[in-house]
Amino acid sequence: MDDRDTQGHAAKGSPAAEAGAAERELRQAHQRFTEILESITDAFYAVDAAWRLTYVNQRTEAAWLRPREALLGRVLWDLFPEAASNEGARQLQRAMQERVPVRFETRSPYLHAWVETIAYPAANGGLSVLFQEIAERKAAEADLQASEQRALARAIELQTVLDTVPAAVWIAHDPSGDRIEANCYGAELLRTPPGVNASTTAPPGERQTHYRLMRGGRELPPDERPVQAAARHGKEQRDVELELVFSDGAVRHLLGNATPILDAGGAVTGAVGAFIDVTERRRADARLRQLAEALPQLAWSAGADGAPDWFNQRWRDYTGQAAGAEAFAGVLHPDDGPAVEALWRGALARGAGFEVEHRLRRADGEYRWFLRRAVPLSEEGGGLRWFATCTDVHDLKVSQEALRQADRLKEDFLHMASHEFRTPMTALRLQVELLRRTLGAPTPALDKASRQLAMVDAQVERLQALIGTLLDASRLDAGKFTLDLAEVDLAELAAEVVARCAQDAEARETPITLQLAPVRGHWDRARLDQVITNLVGNAIKYGARKPVAVEVAPRGEEAVLRVRDQGIGIAAESLASVFEQFERAGNVRNIQGLGLGLWIARKMVEAHGGTISLESEEGRGSTFTVVLPR
Ligand code: ADP
Repeated sequence: MDDRDTQGHAAKGSPAAEAGAAERELRQAHQRFTEILESITDAFYAVDAAWRLTYVNQRTEAAWLRPREALLGRVLWDLFPEAASNEGARQLQRAMQERVPVRFETRSPYLHAWVETIAYPAANGGLSVLFQEIAERKAAEADLQASEQRALARAIELQTVLDTVPAAVWIAHDPSGDRIEANCYGAELLRTPPGVNASTTAPPGERQTHYRLMRGGRELPPDERPVQAAARHGKEQRDVELELVFSDGAVRHLLGNATPILDAGGAVTGAVGAFIDVTERRRADARLRQLAEALPQLAWSAGADGAPDWFNQRWRDYTGQAAGAEAFAGVLHPDDGPAVEALWRGALARGAGFEVEHRLRRADGEYRWFLRRAVPLSEEGGGLRWFATCTDVHDLKVSQEALRQADRLKEDFLHMASHEFRTPMTALRLQVELLRRTLGAPTPALDKASRQLAMVDAQVERLQALIGTLLDASRLDAGKFTLDLAEVDLAELAAEVVARCAQDAEARETPITLQLAPVRGHWDRARLDQVITNLVGNAIKYGARKPVAVEVAPRGEEAVLRVRDQGIGIAAESLASVFEQFERAGNVRNIQGLGLGLWIARKMVEAHGGTISLESEEGRGSTFTVVLPR
């Protein structure tokens, strides 16, 4: 409303009435103005030129925690002495002095909050001031700033990661895959500057690239390249092998994956591909394969998952499988399959090699035994590959099996023979004994008969001794053999054995000398009897009618028995073997024997914890030495 208008209009009516109307209007205007000031959400106050408060609204009362009456007429800086020198005060003073509006944000020491203040110069030379708390806005601002910073940090981090990874990373930024960005490694690999690399996607006609991207010997058109394909078709490309063939002839082999990038709604916005350079690995593989082709074995290699990815020519020759169609199915013997499979799984899990024998089917249908040996080859970068060979061990296995069978047969025979012979032999001896009794009193004719009978008896006895040896041998072989220990004087035992052999020695005109010192120990008398009998018997048998010496003497904690002859002796090459089963030296000629006595003697001495040894010279005689712990 215009002032002059009102005055002009008032001048037309009665002065008093006009004054009253004007006053009413003024009051109404004041009333409306006050209502507005009270209803606004900001706190509002007014000061005059001397900083005295001339108006405060309710929000100001609430903010300052004081009623209007305690505020009006007071000087602002008296009410808030601590605020008199802060940034807010400086701003207000500037508005007052320079008569300009100001707007500022401060942290109020009274409200303990962020406050935004707007001050306007007023007509009375003072200021009208609006203020309000802006905690929420401040927090939101801080949040925004923090999240922007985080996003920035993440972007920097991501870029650093991208440029540090030892893999080529190519990113398509649109679903067409036309605009591709490479990380440092990727750019270096392509021999291009880093960043957006249009040359990788330019249409074939306009292409100026210095390389070609090949797969399986075929050049890939742009839309078949893994990253582009992932972007265009929204499909992941896994374990893609690529060859990068440069115009100068250099070739790099790449292996990697490409994945489409989706937005929150699932729409494809681009794609990312990560590829590692496997050129060195491929070269090493090629070298390995060349080597493996030279092997006399069947050979193959497999990836970390154990799936074979290469077989040598020998494999194909043996199995009759065509190149590219090699497989274990149908070749591995069905009975061996589960065991081999289990070993493979274990080896894969542990990353450790293994060996196993199994049968493989030859092209003509015959199964042959092979020794499979698989070894893990660790690769640069921690990967694992497997290299395996199969060696044909069929003939070896077959002959080993034949040997084992022969061994079993021999054992069975010994066992059977010794048991079967024993029964008729016992019956025979009984008959001879009965005959002797029947013959009764001696007459010349009967004399002859009884001499013959004595001979029969001697033969039978010898036969029985032989069978005894066989039985011993079969028992020793089967490990069924226990010692019956008792106190024994070895010298006494040796004397007894020599006395028993006297007849035999006499028959061969072999003198036996004894040199015995008593040695007592805990031994199996019957077994040692057998040992001494055998050694003395051999000395007489192979002694060439020359004297035999038997010695027994203590030596510390041991007993030593020596049987020495001056007979045919044993050649150096047979010294060790004569202690083995069925082994006889080459110079025995027609002297009969089974080749078991020394073997049995050795087993028995060893069972006592002792040793048996031999010194001999062919044609000059032998000395057998038995040492027994007491
Ligand atoms: P055998 O006498 O029944 O053939 P042994 O096991 O007792 O079997 O002896 C094995 C071989 O050792 C004999 O065949 C013989 O060649 C050789 N041998 C054993 N004792 C003597 C010895 N005193 N002099 C020469 N050779 C001997």
